[in-house]
Amino acid sequence: MWMRVLGSAAGGGFPQWNCNCPNCRAVRDGSLPCSPRTQSSIAVSADYRHWFLFNASPDIRSQINAAPPLCPEGGVRHTPIQGIVLSDAEMDHTLGLLSLRETRSQHIYATGWVHHALTHLNPLLRTLSTYCSVEWCPMRLHVPTALRNMDGEDSGLLCQAFTTLSSKVVAYAAEPTVHPESVVGYRITDKRTSRTLVYMPAVQELNESVLGQLDDCTCLLIDGTCWSDDELASLGIAQKTARSMGHLPIGGKDGSLEQLVVLPIERIIYIHINNTNPILIENSLQRHAVEERSLAVAFDGMELEI
Ligand SMILES: [Zn+2]
Ligand SMILES: [Zn+2]
Repeated sequence: MWMRVLGSAAGGGFPQWNCNCPNCRAVRDGSLPCSPRTQSSIAVSADYRHWFLFNASPDIRSQINAAPPLCPEGGVRHTPIQGIVLSDAEMDHTLGLLSLRETRSQHIYATGWVHHALTHLNPLLRTLSTYCSVEWCPMRLHVPTALRNMDGEDSGLLCQAFTTLSSKVVAYAAEPTVHPESVVGYRITDKRTSRTLVYMPAVQELNESVLGQLDDCTCLLIDGTCWSDDELASLGIAQKTARSMGHLPIGGKDGSLEQLVVLPIERIIYIHINNTNPILIENSLQRHAVEERSLAVAFDGMELEI
């Protein structure tokens, strides 16, 4: 299967429009080695012709235009995008659905909770369905589901949602409650090669539920939002910690880097990187620490055959 990173930044992107943190300043004025990044989303395909998006960020339009395999190829109206798989109901992962409203129909794969949130806690899917037909394809936890092309054919990809047991709640929920289906990771398996990609842009801890999904995975794309738990506070941006926002920091003894480096996974790539994260600066100590351990930092347009 093929995986293409459409966007590698966390919500806000890099630079974020209203942010003047040292990283955002540096990417604007070119004073440090770093590249702009759009908000996180990947595309996956078993045949390089039929693609599934994992999350749809507000940057989706420019991301598609920058990705030749996702651009129309036949007919006056056409898209290689067969469906969109959602890992949670956050704005930076779902607002792009509205930008795809020019299509005739969208197939949206999501858990029951995420579907509920986007229909009743905020009206995104209700609004979208007045522009195009919206077909919800339910993802049940730990049940492998075939991703189907728009014509109903099997795409060759099996996709399984698993809970990350996150305690994060969406900001727009009137009564915040934690639910196992609210933040999930996905195991995506190519039926032909049996190779598996795990996509997990938000993970609060590498608990047994999460680690159990990584056993035989070939490639892991994992939450790289913050380097340190107090990153936002130390820059005077907000008091929230990375963990309280549902993101396990990379650095430190109990950070993700030290926990991931011992796992027998061919490729581990950090994605969903917040603009404050020092790993964005290519000559930073933190970036070296990641690369020294043979982990990678995703960039927009990164493409892998898995
Ligand atoms: Zn996000
Ligand atoms: Zn910034």
